[in-house]
Amino acid sequence: MQITIENLDFTYKLNTPFAMQALENINLSIAEGEFVCLIGPTGSGKSTLIQQLNGLLLPTNGKIQVEELVIMPNSKRLNALRRRVGLVFQYPENQLFEETIFADIAFGPKNLGLNAAEIEERVKKAMALVKLDYEKLKNRSPFALSGGQMRRVAIAGVLAMETKILVLDEPIAGLDPLSRNELLSAISELHEKLGITIIMISHSMDDVAKYAQRVIVMDNKRIIMDDSPREIFKNAEKLLAVGLDVPTMSKLLWELKKQGWQVKTDCLSLAEAKAEILQAVRRKKNA
Ligand code: ADP
Ligand code: MG
Repeated sequence: MQITIENLDFTYKLNTPFAMQALENINLSIAEGEFVCLIGPTGSGKSTLIQQLNGLLLPTNGKIQVEELVIMPNSKRLNALRRRVGLVFQYPENQLFEETIFADIAFGPKNLGLNAAEIEERVKKAMALVKLDYEKLKNRSPFALSGGQMRRVAIAGVLAMETKILVLDEPIAGLDPLSRNELLSAISELHEKLGITIIMISHSMDDVAKYAQRVIVMDNKRIIMDDSPREIFKNAEKLLAVGLDVPTMSKLLWELKKQGWQVKTDCLSLAEAKAEILQAVRRKKNA
């Protein structure tokens, strides 16, 4: 396994009157090249969990292993870990700070000690991956861009580190539909073409249904479900009970079923749902 988490607990502000446990007994393994979506209601611990993966937060109890690197409550020297795991925060554009787009994306690779030619190569490659025009944009200020473009500059900065694992905290939050789709296609391409392991927090069940190979559901500090999207979304009641939703297509099919149509409800895509509905209509006509 590329990532293994064993018996992990995490408490914010440990040993203070403000102590707040955010993760309880997390056990999890993720294989190289998986596309995992992490879902759960607000406050369930999703962001806290992914920050453990690159050492931004250290476990209070338990351990994490990423390839051969072991992280424990008192681990130090986390640079090696950060070269394996790239973390894109929520609203990453808030962390842009350099005068040019080039300088912003080059910041990480520079800290890796690469030479100028290697850095330029990394910036070019990362910009191409998120579909930003290198020649046109490299000398412009990141702050002159649209929200969706700023987000892509921030993500390019993480991609330029060329980590084998990419973790994203609600990468499409607040973007317009066009930017969302462009960004998700870019992430999906990274997964397919480069075999990068993707771990993505998302609130859009339609996107989860479309992209995830595996869905992990969190509620109240714990992992409560871990399965393929099809199996997860069969449990509509359980998801609704913790305040989550199901994909639009599943909802439509549930409604039809309630009205007496003989349809299966676990269709994840528009195409699947359409085929299922047409079949049900035909069956009814022939009956
Ligand atoms: P999610 O990402 O699923 O919304 P979080 O991981 O952000 O959840 O939060 C989990 C719990 O930890 C919440 O109860 C939240 O209030 C608490 N929490 C998050 N960040 C901090 C912090 N810096 N200090 C104290 N408590 C925090
Ligand atoms: Mg969060």
